[in-house]
Amino acid sequence: MDLETWACPTCLSGLEETAEGLQCRSEGRVFPRRDGLPVLVRPEEEGLLADAESYATAWRRDPLAPRRGSQLDLPHVPSRYWRPKARSLADLLNILGPGNHRSVADIGAGTGWLSYRLAEAGFRCFATDISSDHEVGLGAAAVYDSTGHGFERAVASLTRWPFRSGALDVAICNASLHYLPDIRPAVVEAARALKPGGVFVVMNDPVNRDRRSAEHASRDFRERLGRAGARGSLVEGHHHLVAGDLEADLRGSFPRIRRHDPDYGFAFRATRALKAGLLRMELASFPIYVAER
Ligand SMILES: [Zn+2]
Repeated sequence: MDLETWACPTCLSGLEETAEGLQCRSEGRVFPRRDGLPVLVRPEEEGLLADAESYATAWRRDPLAPRRGSQLDLPHVPSRYWRPKARSLADLLNILGPGNHRSVADIGAGTGWLSYRLAEAGFRCFATDISSDHEVGLGAAAVYDSTGHGFERAVASLTRWPFRSGALDVAICNASLHYLPDIRPAVVEAARALKPGGVFVVMNDPVNRDRRSAEHASRDFRERLGRAGARGSLVEGHHHLVAGDLEADLRGSFPRIRRHDPDYGFAFRATRALKAGLLRMELASFPIYVAER
């Protein structure tokens, strides 16, 4: 692992490899591995690991979860859920330009499909997720190691990023910020971990302009996952983001923010417009926000 980039989640000092796991150079605390992945989580956040398992068990059963064996094809699979992700990936690659070995943290990476695509495009990727699940969490990313476009990974939370301050060129929250009841700790971590001039990207989160529609959709999703058996903070914190709040939170740490709205195609727009009309509420959009330090 690149120990110039990873850090102790408690004090943010450097780490070293030991037989028991990664050890903090200043406090001596050891972070053991779980299913082969270092668990870089502060003691007070360890409860999240059980919440993540509960969520993963429910998500594995959801029709929108990636199909088993589809890992190497993501996001290019025929699915109404994945097609927009393929579109936003193309826009992201345009926004970022050539990889040139720049470092990217993929925070809340799930199976790591985005890190794989960015590694393929020449970036050096560091993926974190709170779930080490072998189907829908970071445990599934082992399949990428044999492709020549592997990446480093660790179990970590969205609110404490185990990276040295100023270590990263790019930080991405891809479909992850909406698991946090309050996104500000993640935004502060992005600003801390990025180099001056670094870029923070927020994408594939459901964003509504209208607060009432955001709350309505959030309730529906929490009920659906709750029926599938998910318990704990990941399902309770799950919510659609309100554009005005998200933009204000980003501006709290980043002087410049831009919003891109990928063209998800006529079929996507038409079905969404029809559904919005029937439900008489605003359906979420999936913009890409680019915030610069
Ligand atoms: Zn430490």
